[in-house]
Amino acid sequence: MKPEEFYQALAAKGIELSDTQKKQFEIYFHELVETNKVMNLTTIIEEDQVYLKHFYDSLVLDFVDEKLLTEELTLCDVGSGAGFPSIPLKIVNPKLKITIVDSLNKRIKFLDGLVNKLGLDDVTLVHGRAEEVGKNKLYREQFDIVTARAVAALNILTELCLPLSKVDGTFIAMKSEKAPEELEHATYSIQVLGGKVSDQKSFELPNNEGIRNFIFIDKVKNTPGKYPRKPGTPAKKPLVK
Ligand code: SAM
Repeated sequence: MKPEEFYQALAAKGIELSDTQKKQFEIYFHELVETNKVMNLTTIIEEDQVYLKHFYDSLVLDFVDEKLLTEELTLCDVGSGAGFPSIPLKIVNPKLKITIVDSLNKRIKFLDGLVNKLGLDDVTLVHGRAEEVGKNKLYREQFDIVTARAVAALNILTELCLPLSKVDGTFIAMKSEKAPEELEHATYSIQVLGGKVSDQKSFELPNNEGIRNFIFIDKVKNTPGKYPRKPGTPAKKPLVK
């Protein structure tokens, strides 16, 4: 997907990028590829692949939840790595208030430089494990939307993400073809952590890149204080009945 095709694909979804926004994606691509020469950020570095598998793929969230396109929501992106999906979402809707949590400080430092170069405001970068950030009053149960792409299996991810969602907020998990299987294994943890599955949507990526599955988990009650457990425990002992 060349930049021009990216603009057209978004326009077909009703998202017309301004020249400033096109330039921001261009700078993002450039920074990603240049920094990747000295720091491991991504294995995807070809321009058409970055535009499809990172930029467009992140923005599929806008197609499945249109509120993200227009509203002034608070969004927490857990395990954002080089900024996906939250930075593309923020470029498209500058009104979003983004908080990024990642346990790798070099990625947070890359994002700090990137956010300055892109001239984005209302972006908070938090270096830490989601298990600890989810206990911190500044962040616990504070967000309208929590999201994560390519971070962990759903039964682990729920413990990293649901504590950050406010009651009446939503955790949107971006998943591949394995979503139904992952959901089956996460049913108990979702319920224990105060969530309820409210919707599931699928989206076919262009160029036969496969299916993206989105699982919408509404926060219907507070997460019990003992969760999330210590760093590493959710992955070692996912919540099961
Ligand atoms: N979301 C990005 C994407 O889709 O390209 C990055 C995915 S990368 C495979 C996973 C990221 O999650 C890494 O940057 C890693 O440091 C971060 N991560 C993994 N476990 C984490 C945790 N418990 N708390 C915070 N960040 C975590």
